[in-house]
Amino acid sequence: MRITFPYMGNSPPVFKQILSEIGYDVVVPPPPSKRTLDLGTKYAPEFACIPFKILLGSYLEAIDLGADTIVSTGGVGPCRAGYYGELHRGILNDLGYDVTIIIIEPPLRHPTQFLQAIKLLLNERKVPLWKLPDIFWRGWLKLNAIDHVEKTSHDIRPFEINKGETTFVFRQCMEEFDVARSRAEIKQATENSLRKLSAIPQDRSREPLKIGLIGEIYVVLEPFANHDVQVKLEEMGVLVDRSIYLAEWTRNNAIKNREYEVKRAAEPFLSELVGGHGRNSIGETVLYAQQGFDGVIQLAPFACIPEIVAKSILPYVSRKLNIPVMTLFLDEQTGEGGIRTRLEAFVDMLGQRRNKKEGQLACVGT
Ligand code: SF4
Repeated sequence: MRITFPYMGNSPPVFKQILSEIGYDVVVPPPPSKRTLDLGTKYAPEFACIPFKILLGSYLEAIDLGADTIVSTGGVGPCRAGYYGELHRGILNDLGYDVTIIIIEPPLRHPTQFLQAIKLLLNERKVPLWKLPDIFWRGWLKLNAIDHVEKTSHDIRPFEINKGETTFVFRQCMEEFDVARSRAEIKQATENSLRKLSAIPQDRSREPLKIGLIGEIYVVLEPFANHDVQVKLEEMGVLVDRSIYLAEWTRNNAIKNREYEVKRAAEPFLSELVGGHGRNSIGETVLYAQQGFDGVIQLAPFACIPEIVAKSILPYVSRKLNIPVMTLFLDEQTGEGGIRTRLEAFVDMLGQRRNKKEGQLACVGT
């Protein structure tokens, strides 16, 4: 069996490692590109959201490379993510591909389906059962380590003196993680990465604007889907706090079912579950306002109902808590130039706003 998985952010080395150690021949899908999106757009229903189209294109590319099995995740709540697997299966079958799709549902919400999927996944294993905990644990350690190193890169990039250096070093770090498998190698890769990143020349006298990045999980995590907005903003000298990292999200949702702080913050504005990350987008905006951030950017797939609901409430949250919020809707028509122009205008506006505030404070002080 030649297995593949959805490509999302910096997680591919982790899934590649786990699946290959279980005993699969792994086909790592190519990083999403215009070709991936064009393929997905060609065969997906027109109204489907951009994550659905990119994933479909990615599966088609992996099938081209020889994959015959796809492992993916399911979903809960009033959002079509829960139907992704079935729809993808139907479209691929209609196109004449005989692929097996294994859908892993959230364990706390659908324990039976979760166990069935795990059983199916492990049917093909070529290692004894007692080795599995170590395989999954090392995958988990690697995911956490990658998130930690990525977060560090985001704390450094707005201060870098040579534009692009953090991105260059971070790519080297990811190459090291790609081959790190044992606990000692993962620890070594983490230490090397942090050392390399901290050696980047920085100007710490800067006082960057602070922006919170919120929205739907796939477009927040996958740089191709969001036109690399986080790196673009950081290279403009903005400190960006991304609300979602995969390890943290998995811990909060799948394992501990703990997102109370965000839900409680959203409560006065939106108390109902609207699917996807809609309620989180509200709660996170409230928390960013409370933490003194200069602004918030919402990343929303075009036609994504949960983010449309959040978008309709965000202007009220913005006025009430005095924090500017900009929404970027993303689909296959979205162009790089348009995104850059909107980011520059937003950052410019936030800068003027901060200068005005500081001017007013200086007047009060004199
Ligand atoms: S949250 Fe939005 S983008 Fe994500 S699957 Fe649901 S509808 Fe699509």
